[in-house]
Amino acid sequence: MSYQPGELPPVIRDVPGQEQAVNFLARAIRRPHHAYLYSGPEGSGKRLGMRAFAAALLCPQGGCGKCRACRLALAESHPNMLILEPAGPDILVGKDASDQNTARWFASRAYLTPPEPGRKVMVVLQADRLRVEAADVLLKVVEEPPLDTVFILLSARPDDLPDTIRSRCQEIGFPPLSEEFVVATLLDEGMDPERARLACRLAGGNLGRARRLARDERQLAFRRAALEAARLAARGSAGALAAAEGLTAAAKEFRAGLAEELESELQPFLDERGRPEDPFRGVVRRLVEQHERRLRRSEREFLDWSLLFLAAYWRDVVVSDTGGQVDLLINLDLPDSTSPRDQTVAKAGRAWGAVEEARADLADETNLNARLVLERLFLRIAELRPGFA
Ligand SMILES: [Zn+2]
Repeated sequence: MSYQPGELPPVIRDVPGQEQAVNFLARAIRRPHHAYLYSGPEGSGKRLGMRAFAAALLCPQGGCGKCRACRLALAESHPNMLILEPAGPDILVGKDASDQNTARWFASRAYLTPPEPGRKVMVVLQADRLRVEAADVLLKVVEEPPLDTVFILLSARPDDLPDTIRSRCQEIGFPPLSEEFVVATLLDEGMDPERARLACRLAGGNLGRARRLARDERQLAFRRAALEAARLAARGSAGALAAAEGLTAAAKEFRAGLAEELESELQPFLDERGRPEDPFRGVVRRLVEQHERRLRRSEREFLDWSLLFLAAYWRDVVVSDTGGQVDLLINLDLPDSTSPRDQTVAKAGRAWGAVEEARADLADETNLNARLVLERLFLRIAELRPGFA
């Protein structure tokens, strides 16, 4: 280990905006506990913290950030890393060890010799999604920790984890990142200040999402789609139905674009015949599964971003009409032509409320038809006519 006490290994130092967690991790590397729980909201850096800690544990130099081990761990592709995450809504117990992405599959690998010499890092993403029986299986391995194995559990809802598991983990808090921090980070990365601030507002302070929004114009497609839908809805009930249809179609298109990204993500792990190279077989399988999950979620996500944007739009109206400061506004870059006319705060407030209701309905993935939720919302907007140029 080439880092002195008090000195931060580069991989750990690079975890953004979480000074306390970083200091804790830097100390932990010297004598790691067998299980950690990273708790904090989405976008607060838990996953970056997990990758960095894994790199520090797997790197021969203790986290140089440059070597093969570090690079693979930071990409979650190190052969000695195993990641369990929900394949559907929950993490299931599974039939047996061959039932991939289940607790039994994960646990069965805990006592195996790792593919490469050194430690093993076993990660559970969204650990609060463990079903009761799955948590019991995991508990057994955490209670009798295999040699040279470190468990890292991540959760945005740590209170939903069974106490039996939580009490066996050292908990590291990842509080939400501040807006100043997110903006400053994007500026450091060379982004345009206005765009950085806009992305941060649209992302609600979630760094990863803010970065994607600031970097990739396509990520803003939902705003155009949402604006167009709101304009149609303002024309009356026929427009409202067209709005729901248009937004649904835009979400499908977004999903299709996303599907094209899969191949480029897989390329580094394939041989010249396009098959996974041996040590990366697990990694490739995981990427494929991850991508399928992303695709399944992508339409709902697109719709949620669209509605979040509309909520922000009417929120801006309420804020500015009630004398709020301009720098509270979310949609900083919209041209004046889109600003509402003959609009009352009350109408905008009701429109904002209707959008939030629709978002809550869409968040429940199990029971609702997204198209119906949108139709209901836009019909309500058509009735309200909160004004949309
Ligand atoms: Zn290294």
